[in-house]
Amino acid sequence: MITILKGDITKSNTDAIVNAANIYLLGGSGVCGAIFKAAGAKELQAECDTLSPIKTGEAVITKGYNLKAKYIIHTPGPRYSGPEDAVLLRNSYYNSLKLADEYKLNSISFPSIGTGVYRYPLEDAAKVAIAAIHEFLNDYPNTTIKQIYFYLFDDNTYNTYMNELNKR
Ligand code: ADP
Repeated sequence: MITILKGDITKSNTDAIVNAANIYLLGGSGVCGAIFKAAGAKELQAECDTLSPIKTGEAVITKGYNLKAKYIIHTPGPRYSGPEDAVLLRNSYYNSLKLADEYKLNSISFPSIGTGVYRYPLEDAAKVAIAAIHEFLNDYPNTTIKQIYFYLFDDNTYNTYMNELNKR
């Protein structure tokens, strides 16, 4: 059910991909910049502007525009300041899955939220991410979501999430 891949999330053909957004839902750097570019920045920004701002850990959904994915779920992770941020990072994963379930989606792809510009320590972030997904699946046993993917960009991130998943 959880599959970890190495690669570019903009190439994913799941029903939704998740964007590690900022609270203003502005196209930025990192995975956010890549998603805006691949989706078509002008149209995506116009829709995001109607939803902005949102809070850290919340999630909103837009169309996928030029992506293979039909939808983009945007969630700002925390700018890391300490272990107490775990709940906000957990909320990003949990609320993204809740929204995908509300839209009756079957598949979703996540990047490693928070571990780029927002500097969440990688091993801690992987723990929180995998735990949040299991928490959601426990809470929503009848969810429409059947496939959950991670698209991880570099070896270190990929290996860290693989290790965390294999602990279960
Ligand atoms: P944040 O601001 O939440 O820290 P970043 O975009 O800076 O988000 O980084 C999150 C992760 O996304 C990093 O591991 C980064 O290497 C990765 N990333 C960057 N571009 C892509 C992409 N096209 N597909 C998947 N992951 C990506």
